[in-house]
Amino acid sequence: MNGSGVRLVLLGKPGAGKGTQAALLSAHYGVEHLSTGDVFRAAVAQGTPTGLEVKAYLDTGELVPDEIVIRVVDEHFAAGGPLEDGFILDGFPRTLVQAEELEQVLVDHPLDLVLNIEVPTEHVLDRIAGRRACVNCGATYHLTKRPHVDWTCDVCGGDVVQRDDDTADAVAHRLEVYAAQTVPIIDFYEKLGKLASVDGVGDGSEVQERLVKEIDGRFHPGRT
Ligand code: ADP
Repeated sequence: MNGSGVRLVLLGKPGAGKGTQAALLSAHYGVEHLSTGDVFRAAVAQGTPTGLEVKAYLDTGELVPDEIVIRVVDEHFAAGGPLEDGFILDGFPRTLVQAEELEQVLVDHPLDLVLNIEVPTEHVLDRIAGRRACVNCGATYHLTKRPHVDWTCDVCGGDVVQRDDDTADAVAHRLEVYAAQTVPIIDFYEKLGKLASVDGVGDGSEVQERLVKEIDGRFHPGRT
């Protein structure tokens, strides 16, 4: 991809808008969007060996074990993934072990910025209750923001459905897991001087403007 080359990570609770914002930022900066959640959901849908390994974790809102996640991400970058071209990671890293592994993978291509999208829990519960997603490309919709034609994805024509892990029980568990396992990496990136926190309440374009302001304040294309 012939873009800016920016290297970003998005952090935030389930339903904070990471996927939506990653798609907008990927178009804005011309870099690829890698969502480990989308990779795993596609693997489950296709019934690949990785899909069979991870299905039960996804359904219950449990984290996929680090070694599986790291294998998938390493394979992505090793297969000519976009270290030079830039990328936006959404849903990875999610544990300290993953964050430390990512630092190793990116030793010659360090992250430019880690954006923490902050949204109160009551907001994310509302958003997830109405959230619907394309089974094919992961594009997200909402009961109040539907695709143009029935429940057919505007982007790729796939079926738009409720995610299996967007049930009340699985969401409650995902929020607990986020607090226990992922919140510590906010501190990890803060100590590295790479963290910017952004208010994620508001419509998608407002949040995007806040993110772009932080990124453009810190990243200058053409760095060596
Ligand atoms: P959300 O942020 O809304 O919870 P994701 O699509 O990022 O949704 O993740 C969905 C599920 O995929 C997680 O609950 C977990 O089971 C699995 N998953 C995705 N990324 C990771 C990761 N980096 N580490 C462990 N599990 C992951």
